[in-house]
Amino acid sequence: MQEADKTLDSNEVLVNLFDYDHSGLVQLFKSWGEPSFRATQIIKWLHQQLVSDFNEMTNLKKSLRLHLQKKAVLKVPQIIKREDSSDGTIKWLISLDDGNAIETVFIPEGDRGTLCVSSQVGCALNCQFCATATQGFSRNLMLSEVIGQLWLARRELKQHSIGVTNVVFMGMGEPILNLDVVSKAAELMMSDDAYGLSKYRVTVSTSGVVPGMKELSIRVPDVSLAVSLHAAFDDTRTKLVPINKKYSLDVLLQACRDFYGPDSKRKITFEYVMLDGVNDSLADAKRLAVILEGIGAKINLIPFNPYPGARYLCSSDDAIKAFSRYMMKAGYVVMVRKTRGQDIQAACGQLVGDFKDRTKRRDRYKEEAESEVCT
Ligand code: SAH
Repeated sequence: MQEADKTLDSNEVLVNLFDYDHSGLVQLFKSWGEPSFRATQIIKWLHQQLVSDFNEMTNLKKSLRLHLQKKAVLKVPQIIKREDSSDGTIKWLISLDDGNAIETVFIPEGDRGTLCVSSQVGCALNCQFCATATQGFSRNLMLSEVIGQLWLARRELKQHSIGVTNVVFMGMGEPILNLDVVSKAAELMMSDDAYGLSKYRVTVSTSGVVPGMKELSIRVPDVSLAVSLHAAFDDTRTKLVPINKKYSLDVLLQACRDFYGPDSKRKITFEYVMLDGVNDSLADAKRLAVILEGIGAKINLIPFNPYPGARYLCSSDDAIKAFSRYMMKAGYVVMVRKTRGQDIQAACGQLVGDFKDRTKRRDRYKEEAESEVCT
């Protein structure tokens, strides 16, 4: 049995069907003596029809609906606030059962609508230029809370001209540190029985948690990978992205080479936040061109988005242009990410959610960061 929802007096546990992927549901129905096609029916009702009431599941026999009502619940998190940016970006603050809150952002552009989802409450990785890091780490999200973000967005955007065409795990948290849930969510996102997003339109972004990268490529081979590189020299990267101390550039880039295998034409997106005087010189660009050689790479330069208390400044336009020009001449595909939703603090690295008890979590995060992540 997976994540339990609430305990009944009789010590029986109601399960939340949003916490199950297809194979989990097959097992669950098997334990109730039901055939496996029920799993597909439920997946379609929940994730294609966006239903949250057993009574609406009209192709289930009544006795099964009654059984489900006794044994299970259908629960997704709740939107508590919506903010609309002047550029069309939407940010939702979503409350979880334990009183924590996370943020999810929708970014429409042309015929593409990208949903940026969170994978954890807070983040343990302590990247020095990221607002989420200042909040510390609380916990991993459950499957119902990750897939629930897409479920809510799809419902909210029913009348929207584009809707969600792409999902990026670039909200709060490090997705690879919540790999099981993120893999199941990504599968559901791309499944034709569920959200039916096109192959390769779900992107997992990692700051370089190397051991999980291999597993991700095995579990969800169609997923697209983005790597938050941010520096071409180990000393700078270790300062900016402390996990680099554990998995240095050499090790990380080897994991990138291995991700799709030598025969694949697929490219990895390398994110590179442009920080004034820190990582934006031509020497940095030269080094970057060298270390990415032989990897199918797209480079995404991200102008630094400020937040209250930030210690860095964004590189000048000239520096960003010069950096990008150098990389293009070296033969790379380069994009400079447009800053979106800044007026509602919805841009990269500005997501903070809302935590119940920050002080305690900050302490816990320090211990975790020192003992598990950054040693
Ligand atoms: N932990 C994962 C997922 C977060 S993705 C990762 O690091 O990849 C969020 C992206 O925005 C990452 O590339 C992150 O480094 C970048 N980012 C964080 N703070 C930023 C800021 N203040 N300005 C611009 N980009 C930022």
